[in-house]
This record gives sequence, structure tokens and C-alpha cells, in this order.
Amino acid sequence: MDELIAQVNDIEPPPHLHANAGWVEVIVGSMFSGKSEELIRRLRRAKIARQKVQVFKPEIDSRFSDGQIVSHSEMRHESANIRAAAEVLARVDADTEVVGIDEGQFFDNELVNVANELARRGVRVIIAGLDQDYTGKPWEPMPQLLAIAEYITKTHAICMKCGLPANYSQRTFESEERVAVGASDKYEARCRRCFVPHADAPTVHAE
Ligand SMILES: [Zn+2]
Repeated sequence: MDELIAQVNDIEPPPHLHANAGWVEVIVGSMFSGKSEELIRRLRRAKIARQKVQVFKPEIDSRFSDGQIVSHSEMRHESANIRAAAEVLARVDADTEVVGIDEGQFFDNELVNVANELARRGVRVIIAGLDQDYTGKPWEPMPQLLAIAEYITKTHAICMKCGLPANYSQRTFESEERVAVGASDKYEARCRRCFVPHADAPTVHAE
């Protein structure tokens, strides 16, 4: 039996050692936790290795710039705007090796099928997104993507109230809309203790 297991292990190296093996990586966290930055870092490394990379983001997220994904710290990477997850499959070239998708929470559940299909074709798929909305509720399709991913990274921000690792995006203005795009003028990173699952006053820092 031990011999059999050894044999199986010999002929089945980890997926990334196979030629043309695809897989899914998911990067999740609160706002200001460096998700886009981590996505851009991985995409840049792939490009340095001369891999063909394509990047997509939802059209809704044009707050910083069209045709690029941009982190809060101003790292940039060119990207294509799409309206629906299914568009990714139509737009990925046959020789693309790495597909990056930012703001995954703005897509519907079809993104799960898209990620699986690309990985099946041998593509390395990297998806970044918010795992919870402003009420702390898991934000589909990110939970589903976490389930199907081979590799998961959870990024943390720093709580603006107390300085502990932050896992929540605190809304600091009144709105019941799940999607209300904004940055540090509308949201703060908060830890579990300091998070209030509805709009809360912005943290005031002593001068
Ligand atoms: Zn806190």
C-alpha cells in the first residue's frame, strides 16, 4: 500500500508542475487591505516571466481609471472593462496563460463557471474581490469562488479605530445600496470589535 501511494505521488506532482495545468487563486479581504495591489504584483511577476496575461474588471468600477486596474496605492495594470462574467470566456485569447479579474464581487455567479472553465483549459486564474458587503454579509460570488479555488489569500487592512487587523469595510455614509462605489471618503477598514453593520460616523483623528 505504501508503495502504491509512493507511486501515485511520483506520477502526480502538484498541479503547477504539469504543463498546461490550470488552477484558481482567490485574493479576498476588506477595503484598503491591498487586494488589488496583490493581484497586480502577481500579474507583473507573470509578465516578467513572459507569460501572456489578460486582465478584466467590471465596468461599474471606473472610479479610478478606464482600461486599467488601480490599487489605492496607485499601482496600475492595463485591463479590459466587461459587463458580465461570461464575456471573459469570449475575450480570452487561445494563448493566454494568466487571467486576472479584479472586483470579483461585482459579477454574478457565472464567474464561478468561468473560472472553472478557464482552469480546465490550462489557464492560471487570479481573482480579487471583497468577501463581505458593508453589513458584513458574505458577498457572492466570492464565497463560491473561495470554495473552488486551489489557493486562497486573505488580506487584512488596519482598523482605523484601534489599529488591530481589519476584516470589515465600514460604511461611513447613509445608503442602503449594496453597491456604492467609493474610497476613503465613504469607507473605513474596521476590525470585528469596531465594525458597526450599518453606516457609522467616520473616525475622527486627533490632530
Ligand atoms: Zn478596531
